[in-house]
Formats: sequence, C-alpha cells, structure tokens
Amino acid sequence: MKYISTRGQVAPVNFTQAIMMGLATDGGLLLPEQIPHIDTTTLHSWKNLNFQELAANIITPYIDTEISSLELKTLIQSSYTKFTHPEITPLIQTGDLKILELFHGPTAAFKDIALQFLGNLFELLLKRSGQHLNILGATSGDTGSAAIYGVRGKENINIFILHPLGRVSPMQERQMTTVLDPNVYNIAIRGTFDDAQKIVKTIFNDLEFKQRYHLGAINSINWARVLAQIVYYFYAWIKFSNGNPDKFVNFAVPTGNFGDIFAGYIAKRMGLPISKLILATNQNDILTRFVHSGVYQIETVRPSISPSMDIQVASNFERYLYYLVGEEPKQVHNLLQELDNTQRLQITKAQHVQVNQEFAAVAVTEKATLEQMKATYEQTGYILDPHTAVGVKAAQAYSDTICLATAHPAKFNTAVQQALGRAASIPQNLQGLLKKETRCVTLDADIGVIKNYLYSKLEP
Ligand SMILES: *Cc1c(COP(=O)(O)O)cnc(C)c1O
Repeated sequence: MKYISTRGQVAPVNFTQAIMMGLATDGGLLLPEQIPHIDTTTLHSWKNLNFQELAANIITPYIDTEISSLELKTLIQSSYTKFTHPEITPLIQTGDLKILELFHGPTAAFKDIALQFLGNLFELLLKRSGQHLNILGATSGDTGSAAIYGVRGKENINIFILHPLGRVSPMQERQMTTVLDPNVYNIAIRGTFDDAQKIVKTIFNDLEFKQRYHLGAINSINWARVLAQIVYYFYAWIKFSNGNPDKFVNFAVPTGNFGDIFAGYIAKRMGLPISKLILATNQNDILTRFVHSGVYQIETVRPSISPSMDIQVASNFERYLYYLVGEEPKQVHNLLQELDNTQRLQITKAQHVQVNQEFAAVAVTEKATLEQMKATYEQTGYILDPHTAVGVKAAQAYSDTICLATAHPAKFNTAVQQALGRAASIPQNLQGLLKKETRCVTLDADIGVIKNYLYSKLEP
C-alpha cells in the first residue's frame, strides 16, 4: 500500500515511511492511496473473531507485506496485554444505552488503544532500521500519559512530554510523573498549555535540530493511530449485528481533534454498515457548526468539564476534507489557504449535502452534560465520564446507536462528584498513584531553556 499526502506534494511512500514521517513533509497528512473494501461475505465470516484476530484482518491490507503476518500478530497481541478487560473494547448494554467501553487500557482513556499499538510499531520499525527516535510532545492531560505508557521502557525511543505546571489534574499529573523508566522525561513548564505547545512547534520547525536528533511526534496525525482505531468500530458492529450485513448502526462519538470519528468514517468507507456518524462536541463546537452550516470558522477555546475535547482546529479534519473535495490536493490547499487568511473556510452546497449524508452533529452544553450524567446514573446506575456523556446526550434522538465511552469516569471525578453527588470508584490501574514515587523537572517556558535541557539529555 502506498500513502499520499492530502496536499499532494509528497511522492507516494510505503507504510513504514508513512509511520516514521508522521506529518507529511509538505505539511499535509498521509492517507492510503486506496481504502480497502470489505465485502459482506467476508464481514460475516469475521463474526466469531476476537479483538486481536479482527485487528490483524483489518490492518493487514494497509501494510501489505512490509510486516509479516506473524510479526503483525505478535505486535497486536503485545499491544493489548495491559488491558484489564478480556474483550479489550466490550460493548455493554445498560438500560436503553449501548456503550462501547474504550477505557480498559493502562491510562483509562481510549487513546491507549492506538498508542499501545503505535509504541510497539515504532519499536519494531526502529529495530529494523537501527535508528533511534526522540518523541517530543505537549499535553494538557490525556495524550501525554497514554503516549508515555505506549513507549515506556522501549530501547530505541526516548519520550519528552511537556505539561503546564499545576494545570493538569492531579490524577493526570501522577499518571505521567510516576513512570520512572529511564527513557521517559517529564517536563513541567511554568506557563500554560499554549506556551508548551508553542515551544514544541518551534522546536519542530527547526528542521536541522529535528533531523539531527531524530525528533518524532506522537499526536493524532500519525496514520497508525487512525488505523488502530478503525478496529473497534468493526468489533462493536459485529457484537451489535451478529454479523448480519443488513443491520445498520449509528455511532455517537465525543469529538475533539476528529481522530476517533475519522476512524469511523474510514470504517464506513471500507463497507461497514454504518448509517450515521454522530459527531458530538462540547461548547467548543466548531465541527458541529461546520456540519450544520458548511462553514468552518475558528473561534477561541472555552475550557470545559470535558477538557480533551477543548479544541478549535481539529488536526484530522484535513483528512476528511481531502475526501470531501473528491481527492483533489489542489482544492484542499486552496481551502486551507482560505482558512489561514480568514480563519474561515466554506464548502460548496453539494459538498454540504454530502457531509449531512455521512454525519449528524450535536453540540452539548456544560449544563446538559451534567444533567445527562445524572439522568443516566439515576436510570441505570451507570456512571458516564463527562466526554462520554456529551456523546450519549447527542445520541438521544437516534435509535440503534452505539455510544463510544472514551474515558473511565474516575479520571474526571470532579465532574462526576458535581453531577451525581458521589465519585466513581477508582479502577485498579489508577489506584495508589498518589503514593508512588515521581520524577519530573520544572523549567521556565522558554525555548532556550527547553532546548538546553534536550541537548543535555540527547548528547551523552
Ligand atoms: C482525546 C479524547 C477525545 C477526543 O478524541 P479525538 O480523536 O481528538 O476527536 C474524547 N474523549 C477523551 C476522553 C479523549 O481523551
């Protein structure tokens, strides 16, 4: 399988190159040249597979022969050993709700599903090439810990994660700083998340530094993250339909950077019987406004009780745009230029009709989110985390819908307490964090200071 850039300025690359490249060198995002199609007979024949077997079948056509089928199976097996549920992503029914629990990984958020896989994939590809990778990233909470758990203890990878000092939740901070493996470097900066992100971006823009130190990113633009997330859409559909290709389903997806729901979009294009993808946003509703109006207009971020969805520019949205404009990189380029110049882009009427065939969208207020948490708890005893609650609320008007549960409620107990008057009990993998030893340096939010720190760790 070859991979191409949404901006069309990169000669097609193979799977390995696409994964190591992360962001395409022309600033675009990488996509497979064709999306494999799964016919209904094949789909039906998969109905008794477990999660790992299904993953191997779905991922194989995207890799061709670059990774042998045995290597891939081993890689998938080891990626899901740290999950605490035997089904990895169980579909559960509580009252009228169908919930796909994606939070049984080591950091109790859905990002583990992709980042455990990506960590192992990096390790395999680096061993082959004899190279070394230094991952650098900024986090406001969930991504940092999931990334750290994805690569901790791996020989040919170091990871440097910047977080804003005192501005991530105590649980999130501990999840990162209690990882003591020698290849993990936590940096608390005296500043905001935006400061941290700016520093990381500036360092990535220093191409000489980036190349000399084999700097890599682990954010949601890596194709392997989308790829790993396609699997649970298939898994959930099989549990829902028992493999009957006439049974269509909707998915409600709590959305921030458009990574999770884009994986659902690819699953739909592969032939999975999905009627609608229900895009659920919190008060940061740029994507909902886009689905309703055909206009993508950037506003300022307003912090919410579902912080992992507090974004304005959704990094995976460009991938969807590429398909929407008929796979024409020139048009993607023009639309993005419009966005750059005016903070706004607008699609055509015909394209807008298409968007509404594929997606429904609902923005959910803070108040409605808390009310949904309370209502679900009172009706069924089930505790939703605030991100999942946004999706459940958005799904209200639709039948035959599976709601994706993206985080364990105990990670967001302040909101749970506020909504229910009680906290969620802490799952085993998050227990005892407050008593564990930590390691973290605190540095000024200054590009020179951060670079010096990196130099000191990167040069023996
Ligand atoms: C990252 C995250 C989301 C948003 O997912 P995207 O792929 O960015 O749309 C939703 N909920 C939780 C808990 C998350 O960590």
